[in-house]
Amino acid sequence: MARLMVSELFVSIQGESSFAGWPCAFVRLAGCPLACRWCDSLYARQGGEPLALDQAVAWAAGQGVELVEVTGGEPLAQPASLELISRLCDLGRTVLVETSGALDIAPVDPRARVIMDVKCPSSGMHERLHRPNLEALQPRHEVKFVLAGRADYEYARAMLTEHGLARRCQVLLSTVHGQLAPAQAVEWMLSDRLPARFQLQLHKYIWPGQERGV
Ligand code: SF4
Repeated sequence: MARLMVSELFVSIQGESSFAGWPCAFVRLAGCPLACRWCDSLYARQGGEPLALDQAVAWAAGQGVELVEVTGGEPLAQPASLELISRLCDLGRTVLVETSGALDIAPVDPRARVIMDVKCPSSGMHERLHRPNLEALQPRHEVKFVLAGRADYEYARAMLTEHGLARRCQVLLSTVHGQLAPAQAVEWMLSDRLPARFQLQLHKYIWPGQERGV
């Protein structure tokens, strides 16, 4: 029986994608090979409790919500996450997979929607991007840049242009909470007429300071 290392299971609203605001069942898997400077899920980078794959599927299916997100940590670091994603798709759920971009997204079930970070320089992890992922992006997927300053914004703008990202999937920009004023990032975007969607991390405004379960 396949097992997962799980950091937490909870129902909240989806906070940062084009699905933001919808009720969502979250399966947060434990463990991550990265160490982002702005990590807001430090507790999920290691540890976790073992859970049978069947139990994880049953929990997600039993929450009465249509949207399920498999997140982390880095969910794709656990091979059994791929089966979890497929099983949830089999049940007809809309499945979001939130990933750091450092691991191959090609094996993810094509029915799932990948929300892929492209880490910016201030995170210290931008060189860990698995570059073939940029070519694997499909229209149902979304890429997300989280900005801490002007250098990050310029990096995101260059990546959009160089890889034609806006033509291929939805592009999301947001700010590191407390590091860059949203108004400043929006001003830069509007000035450049950047073809991207700005978003706030909703859960950080609804439940300020609360780390887990949101
Ligand atoms: S990829 Fe996510 S969980 Fe991993 S260190 Fe970065 S922010 Fe934290």
